[in-house]
Amino acid sequence: MIDRQISDRLEMLYQLMANKQFLVLTGAGISTPSGIPDYRDNEGVRRGKAPMMYQEFLSAPAARRRYWARAMLGWPRIRQARPNAAHDALATLQTKQLIAGLITQNVDTLHDQAGSHEVIELHGSLHRVVCLDCDQRADRQAIQLVMEAENPYLSGVDATQAPDGDTLLDPAFEARFKIPRCPSCSGERLKPDVVFFGENVAQATAAKAARCVEQAEGLLVVGSSLMAYSAFRLCRAMAEQHKPLIAINFGKTRADDFLDLKIEASCEQLLPVLVERLRD
Ligand SMILES: [Zn+2]
Repeated sequence: MIDRQISDRLEMLYQLMANKQFLVLTGAGISTPSGIPDYRDNEGVRRGKAPMMYQEFLSAPAARRRYWARAMLGWPRIRQARPNAAHDALATLQTKQLIAGLITQNVDTLHDQAGSHEVIELHGSLHRVVCLDCDQRADRQAIQLVMEAENPYLSGVDATQAPDGDTLLDPAFEARFKIPRCPSCSGERLKPDVVFFGENVAQATAAKAARCVEQAEGLLVVGSSLMAYSAFRLCRAMAEQHKPLIAINFGKTRADDFLDLKIEASCEQLLPVLVERLRD
C-alpha cells in the first residue's frame, strides 16, 4: 500500500516530471524484485564478500578459473530473471515519449526484455562475453553450454547466489574447473562484457551518458545508492546544470545533498502509479 506521506511525495514527483523530459537512471534496486541480489544495504554499505577486482581477473588464470566456476552456477538465475512492474512502467513511459531515455547500471538486460530501447548499459551486460585477446564478443549462453559440457562435476552443486551472477562456491570446487576458451581465437581470456570493480566505464558509453544528461530536463534515479562514481557523476552534472534531480530509493544515496525530491518506496509499486498519472 502507498501511505499518506508517500502519496504526498508522489504528487510532488508528478509535478516535477509533468511536461518535462526526464532521463531515468536505474540501479540494482529495480531488479531485486526480479530475484537478482544487490550489493548494498540501505546505508549504502556493501554486504557479503568483496567482488573480484578487474586487476585480479586480468592478472591470474586462477582468478579467472574462480570467476567462471562461480559464474557458471550463477548464470541460470540471471538468465531466467524476468522484468517486474517497475521495468514495465519505464518501458511504457518511454513508448509514450514521457521520458527522455534510460541509463542503467544493471547488467541483467531486464529493461530490454521489458521493451525499452536504446538503453545505455553503463556497466555492460552479463548476456555477452568479450575476448580480451581478439576483442570478439560471444553470446553468454553459448559459453555456458561449453562450460557445462566440460565441467560435468559441477552439475547439481549448490552455491549461494551473489550479485552480478556470482555465487559463493566452496573453493575446493575451483581447482579442476576448465575455463572456457574464446570461440574465435581459442584464447583463455574470456571476460563477461561487464565493467568490473576497479575498471573504468568505456569512454564512448560514458560520453553518451553525459550527452543524455546534457539534453534531458531532469533526472530520475530509481533503485540506486549511487555509490558507483560513474552514476554519481551523472547526478552531479545534472545538479550543476540546475535541473531537477529525484530519487526513488530505499535508504541513503551518495547524491542525497543534491536531490530535489527523494521517495523511499518500492519502485515496483510507485512507477506504475506514476505511469497512470503522467499519461492522464
Ligand atoms: Zn578471442
